[in-house]
Amino acid sequence: MRNLTSFTKMYESERKELVEILKSRGITNQRVLDAFMKVERHLFVPDIMKQHAYKDVALPIGMGQTISQPYTVAFMTQALDPQPNKRYLEIGTGSGYQAAIIYEMGGRVFTIERHHDLYNSAMKIFDQLNLKIAARCSDGTIGWSEFAPYDGIIVTAGGPTVPLNLKKQLAVGGKMVIPVGDKQIQTLNVLTKISEDKFETHEVPYFTFVPLIGKEGWDGK
Ligand code: SAH
Repeated sequence: MRNLTSFTKMYESERKELVEILKSRGITNQRVLDAFMKVERHLFVPDIMKQHAYKDVALPIGMGQTISQPYTVAFMTQALDPQPNKRYLEIGTGSGYQAAIIYEMGGRVFTIERHHDLYNSAMKIFDQLNLKIAARCSDGTIGWSEFAPYDGIIVTAGGPTVPLNLKKQLAVGGKMVIPVGDKQIQTLNVLTKISEDKFETHEVPYFTFVPLIGKEGWDGK
């Protein structure tokens, strides 16, 4: 069994309240709700933000980036529906929280972050919590071909299109959850790969993510 809980169960009642909020907003997958109860979000945010960790809001994590709002993480995870021992690629490690949720649900997680500082602090927390998550620092829009194909891909930053490399690296039958739109507002695209070149897409408006910057994303430094 995986065990992400620390000795002292900090903020347990706050986590319960958050799970109730997620339920009231339409998150029904019990495995997702259980993961939210287990993973300690306060460990993934800067110290001064800890008291806000269980509010249903995005919080700054440095480098102009954010840990996504819990509802958004829950909604995307429910759409991805991670299964034990299947392989998942995440683009945009950020704080590492989303990766930890998929790991807690039993998935084998591969995650990519472009910012060195965020990559380093996520690696540190994965290590402290003994989460066996594979992480790398690079442009996630080109994917991570070495471990492809993935049973699911989740992109936690918003780009102009669905990167072709990610489509290629998704297994047939797999799902990709990715926000697509302009820099202000995006539609969450949930793609299912039907065959090597056929995808079915379900679109859910409206979400706001930080920009996906890279070869198949927005230009940026
Ligand atoms: N999943 C994260 C959300 C972080 S915000 C969490 O749970 O905290 C999205 C992240 O995507 C940011 O950290 C940003 O630096 C990163 N990002 C943006 N474009 C990227 C790219 N092309 N490759 C990898 N990471 C990228």
